[in-house]
Amino acid sequence: MGDTLASRLASIDARIAEAAKAAGRDANDITRIVVTKFHPASLVRELHALGVREVGENRQQELTTKREETSELADLVWHFIGQAQTNKARAIRDAASAVHTVDRARLADALQRAAGEGDAALDVLVQINLTDDPGRGGVAPEGLETLVEHVLGCDTLRLRGVMAVAPLDEDPAAAFARVAEYAARVRRIEPAASWISAGMTGDFVEAIAAGATHLRIGSAITGPRPLHG
Ligand SMILES: *Cc1c(COP(=O)(O)O)cnc(C)c1O
Repeated sequence: MGDTLASRLASIDARIAEAAKAAGRDANDITRIVVTKFHPASLVRELHALGVREVGENRQQELTTKREETSELADLVWHFIGQAQTNKARAIRDAASAVHTVDRARLADALQRAAGEGDAALDVLVQINLTDDPGRGGVAPEGLETLVEHVLGCDTLRLRGVMAVAPLDEDPAAAFARVAEYAARVRRIEPAASWISAGMTGDFVEAIAAGATHLRIGSAITGPRPLHG
């Protein structure tokens, strides 16, 4: 089998199934989101033809454009996984089914206010910063409960769980063990918030072992990202 999109997707799915089995988990409880950032809409169409339905983008403009370009694929579920600016809240809300990166009350408020009449509730995750660098995005763990309570007060948002990116300088297994603890803290407040969005190309096996329910995998499936700038 040559190195094609189909073969890369199949091989990642096999590794997900293997990691789930090793962790004593059901692979059906794990959602594999394919991150398509920097790739053209044509790649999203190819993925769709291969059965992919969950896709992720990290920039609002690119999300909005690509979603419009693929509007014939009505069953695609778009996940927004990038740092979000409050002034883009309406555009994000219009284009995404789920926002993984709610990390401050002001952003929750902006997404709340961006709801249109009769809109379905927007799925949101609280992003937790696993580093000491505030610029990395995510709420500091000591602010987690306060932010969760705030999101729960926003009636057009549905809190689904937590999201995190493993730090570059830490063993991902250790980082994701902390994420599992934070997720448990959130479920103590809102038992239905059961999603754990964690794991990328380099660390999804460790994320599955730590209980991740949503993997965000890009380059291992799509191939290297085209240069952009
Ligand atoms: C790009 C990106 C990913 C996917 O990264 P890969 O290493 O290509 O799998 C996952 N999560 C976030 C937040 C990203 O920005």
